[in-house]
Amino acid sequence: MRKCSKCKGKMKELTGKTSEGVNYDYFRCNKCNDEILNMAQLHNVAGKYRAMKKFHAKLTKWGLSLGLRIPKELVDKYKLTAEEEVTILPEKGGIKIIPA
Ligand SMILES: [Zn+2]
Repeated sequence: MRKCSKCKGKMKELTGKTSEGVNYDYFRCNKCNDEILNMAQLHNVAGKYRAMKKFHAKLTKWGLSLGLRIPKELVDKYKLTAEEEVTILPEKGGIKIIPA
């Protein structure tokens, strides 16, 4: 059990969510409510942010629609090819692209 560095109270591991929607684990003190992230937790959340940044893409105007450029890493990962048909699924938090 992890102890609080301020009051020596017991710390509980919880999961939070940043304003960008990134889940992360952290410890909160039961006594003084101090919140900390250990190195592994920091590393984890930093990695998620890096991954998010890597997959940022800009929409470009194509007539009345918008075109999305899919990064090479994702093209390779999902074995996508030009002219391939994909399914676009509107979801609550965004749009999902499913390879055919
Ligand atoms: Zn404390």
